[in-house]
Parts: sequence; structure tokens; C-alpha cells
Amino acid sequence: MRWPWQRSISLADKCLLLFGGAIVLIIVLAMIAPWVRMKGLIRERQFDMARRLVEIWQRLDAEDRTRGAPPVIDDQGFVEHAGIKIRPLTLDEAVAQAEDDPFLRRVVEAFGEDPKHVDDMSARWDGVTRIYRYARAVRPEGDATTELSGVLLHEQRSDETAVLLIVNSVYLLGAGLLVLAMALLVFYLITHKIILAPVRSLKETAARVREGDLSIRSDIQTGDELQQLAETFNQMLHGLQSAQEQQSAANRALDLKLGELSEANSALFESNRLKGEFLANVSHELRTPLNSIIGFAELLMEIARSEGEQTGDTPALSKRTRYQRNIVSAGRSLLEMIESLLELAKIEAGRVEIELSDVNVRDVCESLAALILPLAQQKGIEIAQEIASDAGTIRTDPKRLHQVLFNFLSNAVKFTEPAERTGRIGRVTLRAERLRPRAEGDRDCVRLSVIDTGPGIPEAEQHRIFEKFYQIDAGHTREHRGTGLGLAISRELASLLQGEIQLVSEIGRGSMFSVILPVEFDEARSREQRLESAFRGSLSGRRAWNGA
Ligand code: ADP
Repeated sequence: MRWPWQRSISLADKCLLLFGGAIVLIIVLAMIAPWVRMKGLIRERQFDMARRLVEIWQRLDAEDRTRGAPPVIDDQGFVEHAGIKIRPLTLDEAVAQAEDDPFLRRVVEAFGEDPKHVDDMSARWDGVTRIYRYARAVRPEGDATTELSGVLLHEQRSDETAVLLIVNSVYLLGAGLLVLAMALLVFYLITHKIILAPVRSLKETAARVREGDLSIRSDIQTGDELQQLAETFNQMLHGLQSAQEQQSAANRALDLKLGELSEANSALFESNRLKGEFLANVSHELRTPLNSIIGFAELLMEIARSEGEQTGDTPALSKRTRYQRNIVSAGRSLLEMIESLLELAKIEAGRVEIELSDVNVRDVCESLAALILPLAQQKGIEIAQEIASDAGTIRTDPKRLHQVLFNFLSNAVKFTEPAERTGRIGRVTLRAERLRPRAEGDRDCVRLSVIDTGPGIPEAEQHRIFEKFYQIDAGHTREHRGTGLGLAISRELASLLQGEIQLVSEIGRGSMFSVILPVEFDEARSREQRLESAFRGSLSGRRAWNGA
């Protein structure tokens, strides 16, 4: 526990207060003994003197009595012999007067109880005078065995003793004060020179360090623990200083690197911008001749087919048709790839416009099922639909939603084998269901899933297939054509539609790709998202295109 004074008081003042207090206490205790002794001595001397005076008085009084001379008693009851005044009291008188005289009461009781107790004394102050009262027991035979018959009282005012007492007390006090002053002085010098001066120096050094000056060192030469403390402190400072120097060197290097990086970054931004422009420009240039190549190749195939019908099929002709078919197929793959690349570039550059409308979920599913059906029939795969009655409508971009789901569907059809090859029915199911909010803050959503009975995706690959250009390097998927961009595009589009993609898959049983979309579209969030994806695209585009 900390007392309030411990918080605000300085170390020097604290030492002075505590040690000063302790010294005062010690000196007072040390002074009490001589003072008590001095008082005792004076009292003993007075006691001795009074005893002798009373004995002289008793002898003279006895002589007068023997001579038959009457005692001279003054009006206060004192009997004087040779200038010594004593008041003799009978026991009855003493008991009667004891009522108002505490000293007399005390001595009467003491003498009565203890026959060996023959005399007593008291002392008190009267102004600056000391009054000593002496009482002596009177017994008839003078010995201790007989009953107390009276008391002799002697009283003496002693200015000399009072002066002696006062002077001695003053001397004692003076000596005490002198010792106190000297002790405090010596203590002050010792604490200041030996303890506080080095502590203050250390404190000043620490304050300079706090202000940021790490070059300062503490110079304490006391040869004791304080010097060791200062040396340790200096070593710490040395360590700190070199760490700071290393850090500033590292910072300088980092600044340099940052400069280089920001230059490289601006170059990257620039090259990314150029890349975007280049892509936009070449897209048309690439697609137009490619479309011509495909168109002319298809024309040639048509001509070859009609020629074949007219002239009869020859091996040379069928070979030519096969080559032409290869050209068309390769051309289509190339076109598909170019389109995927352009799409991804547009998404990453945040250039995809979202066109919202109220989309009927059932209509979307039905049109997609109709679209994929010819391809599925070609492969001998069934297409099924499970549309929940409460699927309803959602506010979204139908074109982008279509794109995502068609990508799932075409993958499902592509990777699912018909029953004759695998022994189990090849089926692709399009499912739509409403997800009601479970907790507060959840949004009302619709889940659209494409479920296939294909080969399934190993767990370790389930995240990776959403990366650009990633294709599972397994027999069952490698044999299919593809760019490895479809799912990456789907993921980006789902995010633009404020939705997310889920995948559940098991090897040998099939896969379920789902997109979960909110029923209501948050347009303010969409604007932020596009800006963010434009920024991300400008950074990640570097990876994609360099890789490509
Ligand atoms: P692509 O289909 O053009 O190769 P995607 O990005 O659409 O590219 O798919 C990436 C990879 O994910 C595919 O190459 C395939 O290995 C795997 N994949 C996608 N859909 C399925 C599916 N339904 N069943 C099995 N594997 C799939």
C-alpha cells in the first residue's frame, strides 16, 4: 500500500523526514536518562539535608524538654530550634490535616502500614521555586516496634535547587539540540554526497534518454552499487544506441526499397493500364480474324461435305474434312480462351457493369436447362431440375448470373460421364432453394446449385480450382478441353453480385457447385466493391498476365 505522502515527496525529503524523526526520537530517549538521574540526585541531596536538619532539631528539642524549657510555637504551629522550623503533629492532628494534604495523607498511611518506613519527601514547583516537604514518623520509644504517635513536618523553599534544575535542563536540551543539529548535518551531507547526488545524476541521465538523447552516459564514480548501476545503465544505453543505429540503417534501406518499390509500382500501374488498353484493342483484332478463320473453315467443311455427296466419299476427301474439323475446333477453343481472358481482365479492372433487374429464379433455371440440354443429350447425360416453390425472384444482374450458372453446368456436363462408361447414371441437377435468415443481421438469400454425378474433386484441390488457370491434373479432367479460367471468373462474378460460391464434393460420387445470392442487392456496397476490385485487379493482373 502506498501512503499519499509517499507519492509526492522527493527521495531527499523522505530521507530527511524519516531519519530526522528517528534521530529526534533517539536523542530524546538518550536525554531522558541523565535528566531523570539529575532530578534524582538533587532530590536525594535535599532529602539528606532535610533528614539531618530534622535530626538536629529533634536533639535540640529533646535537650529543651530535659531542661524543662517550654517550646516556642509560632502562629502556624512551627517550633523553631537553632533557626530550624519544624511542625510537630500528633497522629490525630496529622490524620485531620491529611484530608486536605495529599502528601500528609500518603505519609501517614505509609508510616502506619510499615513501621520501618521512617521518613519521606515530596517536591513541587511553586512558580520558579522548588518546595521540598519532609515528613518523619514519631514513635514513643523511638524504635520501629512501637505505634506511630505523630509526624514531624519540615518544609523548605529552595530557589537555588530550582535554578540548578532549570539550568541543568537547559544544558541538557541545548546538548540534545546540538547533537540533533550535528546529526542532521552529518546525515544531510552523507545522503546528499553519497546517495542522492549519484541518484540525481542517474535521474538526469534517464531524463535525457527519455528525451531521445542516447549518446549521453552516466558518470558516477562512487565505487559502490550505485556505480555498478550506472555502468549497467550505460551498457543498456550502448545496446539501445547500436540497436537504434541498426534500425535507422534498416529504415534508410527500407526507404530506399520503398522508393524503388513505389517506382516499380507506378511502372506496374502504367504497364497494367497499357495491358488493359492493349487487350481492349487487340480483342477486336483477334476475334475478327479468328471468327473469319472459323467461318471459312466451316464453309470449307460444308463445301467438302457437298462435294463428297456429289463425287462419293474418298479417303483424301474425308481426311480433308477431318483437318477442317480440327481447324474449327481449335479455332473455337482459341476464341473461348480469348473471351475468358478478356472477361477476367474486365472484371479485375472493375470495368464490369452490373445491370440489375428482378430475376425470376424458376425462369433462369428453366432457360439454362434448355440451353445445356443439347450438350447433355449429346453425351447421354440427364438434366433434372429441383426448383423450390418459394424460390421467387431476386434482384440481380441476369446476364452475370447466367454466366456463373452456365459455367457450373457446362463443367458438370463436361466432367460427368454417361452410364455406359461408368455404370451409374450420369445426371446433372439444377436446384434452386430459398435460404431464410437464421440469425439477426443475416440476409434473405437464394441458393442455386448444380449437382453432378461426376468424378468429384479431391478435398485438397477444392480451393485451388478457383485459382486462375488451375486444372486438376488427373486423368478424368485432363482429357477435357478447358482454360482453367471458368471458375475463377465465376467466383469474381458471384462476388460482384454480392454472393458467394460453395463447393461440396466427394471423390467418386460427384460435386455440388452453388452460388448463394442475396434477394436484395445493396447498390452502395457494389460501388465500393467495384473500386476495390479495380485496385486489386491492377495488382493481381500482373501475376495473371505475366503467368500467361
Ligand atoms: P476449365 O473447366 O476450363 O478447366 P474451370 O475453372 O471451370 O476451368 O475448372 C477448373 C478445374 O476444376 C477443371 O479443370 C476441373 O479439373 C475441375 N472441375 C470443375 N468443375 C468440375 C466438376 N463438376 N467435376 C469435376 N471437376 C471439376
